[in-house]
Amino acid sequence: MIHYKFSCSNPSSQFLEIELSLDCKANEHIFLQLPAWRAGRYQLANYAQNIRRFRIKDAQEENVLFEKASKDRWEFQTTESGKVTVCYEYWAGKMDAGSAWADEEQIYVNLINCCFEVSGRSEEEIEVSLDLPKFPELVSTLLPNGASRWKARDFQMLADSTILAAKSITHWKYQIESTLFHIWIHGEVHFDQQLILNRFKSFSRKLIADFGEFPELEYHFIFQLLPYAHYHGVEHRRGTIITFGPAESLIDPNQMEELLGISCHELYHGWNVCRIRPQELLPYDFSKETYTRTGLILEGITTYMGDLYLLKSDVYDLPTYLKHLEKIIARESSNFGWKNYNILESSYDLWLDGYVPGIPDRKVSIYTRGALLALGIDILLIKNGSSLSEVMKLLWEKFGKPFIGYHWEDFESLIFGSFSDPTEIQRYFSDFVYGYQDLFPQLKSLLGEIGLELNEKNGEDRLLHNWGIRTNKEGQITQIHPDSKAYSSLMRNDRILGYSEHDTPSLNLKIDRLGRELPIEIPFETGKFFPEFKLEIAEKTALRETWGK
Ligand SMILES: [Zn+2]
Repeated sequence: MIHYKFSCSNPSSQFLEIELSLDCKANEHIFLQLPAWRAGRYQLANYAQNIRRFRIKDAQEENVLFEKASKDRWEFQTTESGKVTVCYEYWAGKMDAGSAWADEEQIYVNLINCCFEVSGRSEEEIEVSLDLPKFPELVSTLLPNGASRWKARDFQMLADSTILAAKSITHWKYQIESTLFHIWIHGEVHFDQQLILNRFKSFSRKLIADFGEFPELEYHFIFQLLPYAHYHGVEHRRGTIITFGPAESLIDPNQMEELLGISCHELYHGWNVCRIRPQELLPYDFSKETYTRTGLILEGITTYMGDLYLLKSDVYDLPTYLKHLEKIIARESSNFGWKNYNILESSYDLWLDGYVPGIPDRKVSIYTRGALLALGIDILLIKNGSSLSEVMKLLWEKFGKPFIGYHWEDFESLIFGSFSDPTEIQRYFSDFVYGYQDLFPQLKSLLGEIGLELNEKNGEDRLLHNWGIRTNKEGQITQIHPDSKAYSSLMRNDRILGYSEHDTPSLNLKIDRLGRELPIEIPFETGKFFPEFKLEIAEKTALRETWGK
């Protein structure tokens, strides 16, 4: 049996004291592998940076010698058989949905941050106990196993779990079909319980109806409602952690929509990613980078469906849904990464620069580009008598439910197979999924099929819309449209000291380029750069009825 015990004698230090005990044979060679990343974030996190005071003791309390075999791998050899205890401290000083935090109110740990995989024993059951008497309210996505105790069936389950021990937690619950859903809230509650429960029930019920079943009998929404601005969610098989703030802002219906959006997104992951998972991520190998090209499915479809199911379940009305879709469109419309890297290449490179802005227009976002690609695929499917929801249900039945990994080709052939004549969808994939074409003209025409107009207009900012120059409040250039004339003479980070476009048809600027003052003249152009996109509701079509239902 592998056992983890957590305590925290000084929460304000933010160091957790962790003891890992395991029974070993005589002369056994043990490797302890700490995860280098976590599910849902395809980027090295190097949790070993947060570990200190690592010691190993045998059953007689004698020190056991150990060595590091890599930055996050430790090894040791036993002499006699018996219990060995590995003691270390973990710094719980990062509050987000995938990390760990300690203060006078709570001890909160995502176990993947700080629990070792014992090589060769990944399938063994693991028990977790807490010695945190000052924090009596306990929540975990693990399986309960007595007072302050839980268990994980194996390391994959342990690494997929969270523990929250706090002085006080708000707890509500609701049941849909055979699943009991819990809502746990740490932090201030500034909204009505019944209103929230009704909305959560609506989108949960609709998702379960469309997939046919929910993978788990119990599911925990664990909210950290913080006093400062925050927005983050992480999916787990038996629940989700959502950090959101400021808690007070949830009085505002717009902010509540954001919270509902992230909640529905994470619940969708309960099927897609937690169970419907590409073969390369099943099981997760947390010791090193695991490359996948399936970002469109992992996050694009989930981002699209997370919002769409709020519409389908009547939590959002159509104007509210479109307001959120406009935000995705706005983010996509100012990124030209699609000219250089398609979504498969961008997905593969998540490990390189997936979570930073990176160099200009190098890559696309698997979230926003992925969501718009998914919207296009959905409309094409609906035109052909199917839908993306139906294809995802097929993926659930063929791969998610039996929990066998899919390949990209399986997804593609399920989509193509839903068309009597796949010519149109094949062209869509070759232009926009595999290719480097501008999605917007196609999106406009597809939205028209469901009675929605995507209109563009230029706003007041002439530097931006006429000349293609985006600046921040300090006048520093943050982006130059690659098709603008300005792209040939201005540089990112130039600071505009002044400009005039009155005397001549050209634009005359004075700029500061790293301490040098330079005059720049940009020849006349009638650009229509960075338009603002607005979605308008046109005449209702039969396809829109099907799409939103
Ligand atoms: Zn997600």
